[in-house]
Parts: sequence; C-alpha cells; structure tokens
Amino acid sequence: MDVRRTAVVKLAVSDEQRDALHRTAEQYLYCANRTADYCWSDTSYAECKTNNREVRDALYAELREETNLQAQLVQAAIKRGVEAVKACVERWKKGQRVSQPTFTAETMDYDTRSATFYRNKVSLATVEGRVEPSFVLPADSPTPYERYALSEDYEFRESTLRYDATTDEFYLHISTRRIDSDDEVSEDTGHSDQTVLGIDLGVNSLAVTSTGTFWQGDDYDHWCREFEKRRGEMQQRGTQAAHNALLRLGKREEAWRKQYIHTIANELVTEAVEHDCDVIAFEDLTDIRERLPHAKWHHVWAFRRLYEYISYKAPEQGVSVEQVEPNHTSQRCSRTDCGFTHENNRHGEHFECQKCGYEVNADYNGAKNVGLRYARKRRHRLRSSPTSGSGDAPVDVRITGGTLNGESYQPIAGD
Ligand SMILES: [Zn+2]
Repeated sequence: MDVRRTAVVKLAVSDEQRDALHRTAEQYLYCANRTADYCWSDTSYAECKTNNREVRDALYAELREETNLQAQLVQAAIKRGVEAVKACVERWKKGQRVSQPTFTAETMDYDTRSATFYRNKVSLATVEGRVEPSFVLPADSPTPYERYALSEDYEFRESTLRYDATTDEFYLHISTRRIDSDDEVSEDTGHSDQTVLGIDLGVNSLAVTSTGTFWQGDDYDHWCREFEKRRGEMQQRGTQAAHNALLRLGKREEAWRKQYIHTIANELVTEAVEHDCDVIAFEDLTDIRERLPHAKWHHVWAFRRLYEYISYKAPEQGVSVEQVEPNHTSQRCSRTDCGFTHENNRHGEHFECQKCGYEVNADYNGAKNVGLRYARKRRHRLRSSPTSGSGDAPVDVRITGGTLNGESYQPIAGD
C-alpha cells in the first residue's frame, strides 16, 4: 500500500536568501507561464499540447538560455505548465468553461536534484546558487518532519516551496513515501482508528463542521460588497489619482480577505485538534462553480484559499487533509441507517428527509455527509488493499457530543 506523508515546515530565511528565493520564483513562474502559453489553444482542446516530454523537448533549451534556473527547476516549471493545461483539457472535454492557465503564486517544485535535506536545514537551488535556510520546528517532538522526512521508513519524494505573502514566510511541503518491506506490516494499514472532521463549504454559511460549528461569513460578504461599492465609485471618477487609489484599495482588500480566511482556517484546525480528529475532510472543489451557481467569485475564492491554508496548517498539528467526491452530499440524509437521497430533501438552509423525517440544518447535514463519505472511502481503500491486515479500519465521524461510525452507511445506486 502506497503511504504518502506530507510534512510542512517553515523556513528561517535571511534577507539574502529571501531575495534569492523570490528571484528564483519569478523565473520559475516565467517558465510555467511560457509553457502554458506554448501548450494552449483557444480554438479547440485537440490543439492543446499535453505531452510533457514533447513540450520539454521543444522548450527546455530556450528556457535554460533565457533564465538562470537550474536544470531540474526548468523541467519542473515546464511540467507544472503542462499539467495545468492537461487539467483544463479534461474539464473542456466535459463541456466546462476553461481558459488558459496562468501562474502567479510563488510555488516551486523541488526534487532530490535541486533540494538536499539535513536534520535542521535544507539546501535549495536558486538562481544565485544554493541557499541553506534552517527549519523552524515546533517544540514538541517528534515533529511531522522528524517522523516522516527523517525517518528511514520513508523516502523523500519531492517538495514544494510556497511563499505565503500574507505572513511573508516561506514554507516547504515535504512529500515522502513509505518504503514497503514484506516482513513488516505498518501501523498505517488500518489497525489504528481514525476520527474525521467533515467540513461543508457554502453560501449560507462559509463553513460548517460535522461537530456543528458554524462560520457564517456575514461580515465577509458585507465587506466584500463594501469594497465592491468603493471600487465602483473610484472607477467612475476615472482620474489618475482615482486609478492609483483603486490599486491601493485592491491591495488592501486582498490582504484583508486573506487575513479573514487565515483566521477561519486556524479556527477550523483548532476545532479538529480539540475534538481529537486525525483527518479533516473537504469536498473536492474542482467543480464548485457548477455545483454552487449562487456563489459569487469571492465565495469561490474563499473556498479555495480555505482549503489551501488548511492543507498546510493542519499537517503541522498532525492532522491530515483529504478530499471526497462531492456527489449529492447536500441532498442525502446523514442518518447512517437511512442515507435517502433526493433533491426535495433540501430547501435552502433547511433539510428534511422525505423518507425518515430527519430534520436538521442543511449545511450541518452536508458536513456530516462529507465526514461519512471519507469514512467509507477509506474503508473501501483498505479493503481493496492486499497488504491490509485486519482490513477494516473503523473511521468515526466526529459530531456534536459524540461520534458516528460510518459502518452502516447505505450505498445508493450510481454513487
Ligand atoms: Zn433519512
């Protein structure tokens, strides 16, 4: 069984290292964007280029020439561009709305050729040679870094360097894979119980957990509207001064929105830790626009940031983050002995099962279903794994005042 772990560590960077990393990221983004440009076609998806090797053959020499990036980083940036175009093509084939991918976030993929790990520091290739920032590790031991990145049972796969503009920090997401050996069945094959916290994201409430905690986001909506109004006023004036003020407002608004989502992300991770949850489960956000037609762009933005922030904050607390298929989580009855799914079950914020009569807040019902879906998915994965000893890992869903065991979860047709 393929067990992968991601440890997230903050880097202590000097001013010089910071500059070198930013300059590297800038060139990396340039390569990724050039690649997307080369691969993309507005005419049809059949004309988009999605073969990584062919694209690399076409662009590599040129991009090496134009940048100071180390070979592996150029290759990784090309791959990033191709992967993004490939994902768009998949969605395009399904008739979904797509546009050419662009890259703006400072994230770079490193592998063993461009990054070397030591106990307390990492050596990273940059456009100004190697830099060696040290890790900022939490006091409690063992840290996820020690447990997985330094463990002999895990091999280093790759890592992603992310710059977080809100906190002005660099984080390294280190991905490792367990080295399997026949005479050793690891604790990860299902002997340990897990508890999952399900999260529902939506327009009525920004986030709701299966433990029944709500983040309404009313003030978020309010301030997004206020910013919108002020932007409109400035645009009408049309002067250079108004234009400059508009740019400043845009920056302030983005900083404010990020801070807002960071706060919720922290509170959600705390919710998971306080309820002894090992996993936070979200719905897959890929088609969120199609699924929530009433969501405004700032909602969709908030959902994606929330997922992104939690996926690097939670592992620092030993909590992993998983995504589940979103099918019908809002229309399905979350009572484990029922599971009846019908669109008439849900009316706005109210959920009432047409079969068993269960009445509950609709978003809370959704959050429980997300948790239950993860529980079922994990059991299925364990059952289908030949190395799994007991096969059946009970996964409990944490709910208000207790847990739900997904064991009696009824599958439905077409699910
Ligand atoms: Zn029911």
